[in-house]
Amino acid sequence: MKLPLIIIVDDDIQVLRAIQRDVRNEYHENYRIVATDSANEALDLIKELKLKNESVALFISDQRMPEMEGVAFLEKARELFPDTKRVLLTAYSDIEAAIRAINTVKLDYYLLKPWNPPEEKLFPVISDLLDDWQALYKPDHEGIRIIGFQWSPESHRLKEFLSGNLVPYLWMNVEENKEADKYITSAKLSYSELPLVVLKDGAVLSRPELPDLAERVGLQQKPLSEMYDVLIIGAGPAGLAASVYGSCEGLKTLLVERTNPGGQASSSARIENYLGFPSGLSGAELTRRAITQTTRFGTEILTPKEVKTICVKDGYKLTKMTDGTIVHSKTIIIATGVSYTKLDLEGIEKFTGAGIYYGSAAIEAHACKNEAIYIVGGGNSACQAAMYMSKFAKEVNIVIRRDGLNLTAANYLVENISKTPNIKILSNTEVAAVAGDKVLEEITLKNVSTGEVKKLPARALFIYIGARPGTSWVNGVMKNERGYILTGRELMKEKLFPTKWKLEREPYMCETSVPGIFVAGDVRFGALTGISSAVGEGAMAIRFTRKYLQEI
Ligand SMILES: Cc1cc2nc3c(=O)[nH]c(=O)nc-3n(C[C@H](O)[C@H](O)[C@H](O)COP(=O)(O)OP(=O)(O)OC[C@H]3O[C@@H](n4cnc5c(N)ncnc54)[C@H](O)[C@@H]3O)c2cc1C
Repeated sequence: MKLPLIIIVDDDIQVLRAIQRDVRNEYHENYRIVATDSANEALDLIKELKLKNESVALFISDQRMPEMEGVAFLEKARELFPDTKRVLLTAYSDIEAAIRAINTVKLDYYLLKPWNPPEEKLFPVISDLLDDWQALYKPDHEGIRIIGFQWSPESHRLKEFLSGNLVPYLWMNVEENKEADKYITSAKLSYSELPLVVLKDGAVLSRPELPDLAERVGLQQKPLSEMYDVLIIGAGPAGLAASVYGSCEGLKTLLVERTNPGGQASSSARIENYLGFPSGLSGAELTRRAITQTTRFGTEILTPKEVKTICVKDGYKLTKMTDGTIVHSKTIIIATGVSYTKLDLEGIEKFTGAGIYYGSAAIEAHACKNEAIYIVGGGNSACQAAMYMSKFAKEVNIVIRRDGLNLTAANYLVENISKTPNIKILSNTEVAAVAGDKVLEEITLKNVSTGEVKKLPARALFIYIGARPGTSWVNGVMKNERGYILTGRELMKEKLFPTKWKLEREPYMCETSVPGIFVAGDVRFGALTGISSAVGEGAMAIRFTRKYLQEI
């Protein structure tokens, strides 16, 4: 941790040197001492220090300076560092100004020049003030800050990306956190340029694109090798498992992910059916453990990187990302899972991330404290989200078209929901419209049996209505009409198979119609969806990858 600072300002160079020398001799072990002869320079420095989240314990300022009086300087400095102790250096003739300053800038002390001997006239005063400051001082969060409006899609996108990539940050909502304004002022920006990301070194990024942000926070952006044994596309449970087993078995492994690792599972508030965790664990925790494990074995992870095309050249696989990055590998495992089905309502796009969320319960939960919120869908993920949100929200309403949850959700979830008093089930109901100015403010619910329509105030609507594979970019491999990728025996049932497959052997269990390109997890036709199955398929895909590598 960095030492707190003592800042000294005096335009008289001789006095400045003298006080700097004395203060440094006495306090250099516990404080960094910075001295300047310009009040304006000191103010610029203070703004920079604010952005860098530095702590300032003490300002010592001369009263008579040409750029501004010491009292004015201390007043300005106080706006950014209100808890810092303030000492005014005065000549005998300025005592009156100093006394007035006690009230106006809450001056802690005025020190008469000269202060010799310092052991008697300087150190006891300064030590006393520093002890006082230390007693109340709480070290500031030293890492990254995101500053923005709570219900802004842009802020949501940045928070989701950093948390999903295990990059810690402090969220500052400008509407609630008074400190946030100080960062905006120090960076000379306005509300229209929010959200801001303030990095550890004090650099400020206004509305950054994810690849820029990723680079600035140190996430790997370029592959380090010319050729990989296996390239895994998608870092959900299947891709993460494949990467752990691949690199653990000594394969040169690259994992690419278009947003942040974890896949659908990362938005699960509590996974209760994963082997070895009897009291459940959150998707974020499972992802954190998997990332730590796989990077420990040497997997390289590139994020955010979206794969645009794959092709085969002389048996080697060539994968191109949307940003132009090209990766060469001997094999590929496609583990791109499925994406949430969007609710088809007019104008809904405008509110995505601004009150309407697809599977983001865990990230937005705290913002829903004491609100009435709505969850659309009756499957396991909707029910899990409802259970989780019931700990924060005043009221959780599950909106389903059917009569009840019995046919769509697991028994244990239905039972838990029935025992949770602040969860209501709105059966035979659908969302008919959403409205609001900049953020979601109102939803219209329609009873599908009676046709009755109700308008209700709503700040948050979470949607869990099924999913589809997004595989339109995967060329050359055989898929079914819904986009699921065919593998192994399923391929052999297809009429076109003999025209595509030219090897003597049959395709392996999770191999596609292109030898050396494998599939794992929800995107594979016939896969049993779920986290355990995805993890199992990831491990299995590596087994067949190894077999294939022995053949070439
Ligand atoms: C809210 C919720 C709760 C759930 N809870 C449970 C539970 O408790 N128990 C359980 O067993 N199952 C649960 N599931 C289901 C489970 O999460 C999925 O079955 C599992 O995550 C599938 O894993 P996967 O790796 O195949 O795909 P996904 O998890 O979908 O991951 C695919 C990844 O690939 C990435 N990707 C997609 N296209 C590209 C591209 N072109 N380039 C790069 N990357 C790409 C995506 O961004 C994503 O990160 C839940 C699902 C949800 C939505």
